Amino acid sequence: MNILLVHAHPEPRSLNGSLKRFIVDRLESQGHAVQVSDLYAMGWKATLDGADRLDREPDARFDPAMDSRHAFVHGTQSEDIAREQDKLRRADALILQFPLWWFSMPAILKGWVERVYANGFGYGVGEHSDARWGDRYGEGSLAGKRAMLVVTAGGWESHYGPRGINGPIDDLLFPIQHGILYYPGFDVLTPHVVYRTGKMDPARFAATCETLGRRLDTLFSTPPLPFRRQNGGDYAIPELGLRPELAPGRTGFGIHLADAQPASVLHVAQPGNEQGAEREQDRARRHEAQAAAHAEGLAQ
Ligand code: FAD
Repeated sequence: MNILLVHAHPEPRSLNGSLKRFIVDRLESQGHAVQVSDLYAMGWKATLDGADRLDREPDARFDPAMDSRHAFVHGTQSEDIAREQDKLRRADALILQFPLWWFSMPAILKGWVERVYANGFGYGVGEHSDARWGDRYGEGSLAGKRAMLVVTAGGWESHYGPRGINGPIDDLLFPIQHGILYYPGFDVLTPHVVYRTGKMDPARFAATCETLGRRLDTLFSTPPLPFRRQNGGDYAIPELGLRPELAPGRTGFGIHLADAQPASVLHVAQPGNEQGAEREQDRARRHEAQAAAHAEGLAQ
């Protein structure tokens, strides 16, 4: 398989630098081909601006989304952007590897996402109408590929636990996992987080690599997180709120994961999936009955 590793750390002799070398060696030893985008080493330009569209009139007002679309469609994107898009097209899996800086990814990596995910490639894909809100969240240009985060954090695991002071790690990473990876179609795996990096020593580094190695060995067999598909029936379109009968009474990031009961992934009506289509019809009938009962209640 072909794997793209996007690495964001300025120092090759860092812990992240060591982990990068481990990741590449491990994946190659398993027979995979690995492309590495080492953003600092490449001198990656982090800011999205008018220079990203090569045929732009210098005095024209810069529109980040529309200029991006024009450049993508007409082949006038800055070469560094087009090169990274080609790496993504070739990849079967993407690994984003970075230290947690201010509860998120380093700016250089955010800039990679902002520039490489051009309008028409990372977003703005598919039909946008009152009936369909684009190919995203489970569909899109990068559908069929897998993605995983490898993150290091200075804080302890308990600081990022369900009641930890920093907030739960799944919540902090949700904008990346769901907003950046699932949005353009990736199947997203549970993130791999190495905590308390200040306490690293050779023995712990060996144990860290052992655990990470197992994650890499199962990169293509681990079931992805069951994020709900936007166009699978769980969300009303165009409002895009989760239907009230799903995760009733709950709010927050967790509701976008299908739970054991009405898992959206199980009853998406797809061609040739008559059982799924039947369940979809049942649900539609139930919605109608609920809406009628609700309207009746209001009228009384
Ligand atoms: P390094 O500093 O290079 O190394 C960490 C330790 O590992 C060192 O003791 C080093 O000697 C050892 N080490 C390195 N390589 C090896 C090896 N091969 N074998 C054995 N030991 C090794 N943390 C949070 O939890 N939340 C935040 O929001 C956050 N924000 C931050 C913001 C900024 C701007 C910065 C600079 C740090 C922040 N941190 C935060 C801490 C940060 O996440 C950690 O410093 C980082 O993850 C450590 O990774 P590193 O590659 O820089 O490690």
